Amino acid sequence: MYYSVTNSDVLIIGAGVIGLSCAYKLSKEGLKVILADPNPGKSASWAAAGMLAPVFEVKYAESSHVPFNIEARRAWPSFAKELTDLVNCDIDFKEGGTLQIAKSFDDLTYLMELAKFCRSLGFKVDNLSPREVRQLEPSLSPQISGGFFNEVDAQVNNRLLVDALIKAVKILGAEIILESIRELKIEKSRIIGAKTDNEEFSFKYAVICLGSYAKNFPYIKDYLTIFPIKGQILRLKKPEFFAERIVRAVVNSRTLYIVPRSDDEVVLGATQEDTGFDDSISLGPLSDLMNDALLVAPFLYDSAIRDITVGFRPNTVDNMPVVDWLPAENLAVSCGHFRNGILQAPISAEIITKLILGQKAPEAYNYVRYKRLNPNAN
Ligand SMILES: Cc1cc2nc3c(=O)[nH]c(=O)nc-3n(C[C@H](O)[C@H](O)[C@H](O)COP(=O)(O)OP(=O)(O)OC[C@H]3O[C@@H](n4cnc5c(N)ncnc54)[C@H](O)[C@@H]3O)c2cc1C
Repeated sequence: MYYSVTNSDVLIIGAGVIGLSCAYKLSKEGLKVILADPNPGKSASWAAAGMLAPVFEVKYAESSHVPFNIEARRAWPSFAKELTDLVNCDIDFKEGGTLQIAKSFDDLTYLMELAKFCRSLGFKVDNLSPREVRQLEPSLSPQISGGFFNEVDAQVNNRLLVDALIKAVKILGAEIILESIRELKIEKSRIIGAKTDNEEFSFKYAVICLGSYAKNFPYIKDYLTIFPIKGQILRLKKPEFFAERIVRAVVNSRTLYIVPRSDDEVVLGATQEDTGFDDSISLGPLSDLMNDALLVAPFLYDSAIRDITVGFRPNTVDNMPVVDWLPAENLAVSCGHFRNGILQAPISAEIITKLILGQKAPEAYNYVRYKRLNPNAN
């Protein structure tokens, strides 16, 4: 069969927030970039809540992740400004911190352990009584047992973000092909081409940004173990009287977050289910999430449900992404960003851009190299 061949400096396979951010940075450097994706920006990057939470998404066993996340958080203000200046669209980037609260005394015990852990990492965390919590956010339930506030977290509207990135890469001259890549052509240690059903690509470099879908992708699946963690998440109409900050809550030993946007929307999330690529909306996990939310934020009771989305967080064995060359000499990957892909998109794109330009990568690169998972790799 005859295929037309399209040439570029870089082919990016997968146009979620990770691939789009790479395309944006590489195009800004003057490289000719092609992105291939049948449905750009509509997978995990569309489902997400958009919290930029470098520390408080981290679990106890993950303290080594904090330095990478802190670098990721630092990259955000300038990234947001440059992007919005270019496309002239708002992405609702806000630096308001997060209020962490607990429903019962058992939940508070868990939360205070988290506060202790955060202090051990050097973060200033002040405990709050129920009254102090309600002074900050009067719409929350009086039936809570306490909490604390962290100033570090920010948020962005991830749907506006992916739309802005799509617009930006087009302005910068990148091309988006709305097709799946089916096959890579490999010769010795180089990737010499890639194919969709209709088209063939040749390029100097390829970057795999497939999120969870790297799990089954040819060649990559032999080197990298990625597995999807399902999340169900709701978008609701924001009540007139409601919290202004992100609220994270521990309720009945489960965690949830409520992310109020600047407009009339509030995001309520999210379930975490290890059920493969099952994209069904399921009653049990969702009703737990909704009931828990109403116990701490009763004003949500009359909120209209606008959207329930299922997304797959791309996980690795150590919950950290791989942003590096893979054994082929002109193939890079930026995959496995799990719960923090929106936060980590700008810094990951910065690393990929430096690798491709042959320049010194930022320090953060050392946390996301492939060889940590495979010490025998070069
Ligand atoms: C419910 C939920 C809430 C979350 N909340 C947050 C949050 O608050 N903050 C945060 O930082 N992170 C959050 N995350 C995590 C974040 O969404 C992900 O880490 C991030 O979106 C991963 O981006 P990605 O571009 O790697 O993957 P994706 O967005 O999944 O993109 C992968 C792309 O690959 C494409 N693709 C698949 N197969 C092919 C093929 N063969 N050829 C070409 N393209 C292909 C798909 O169409 C898709 O567009 C959340 C995730 C979920 C599910």
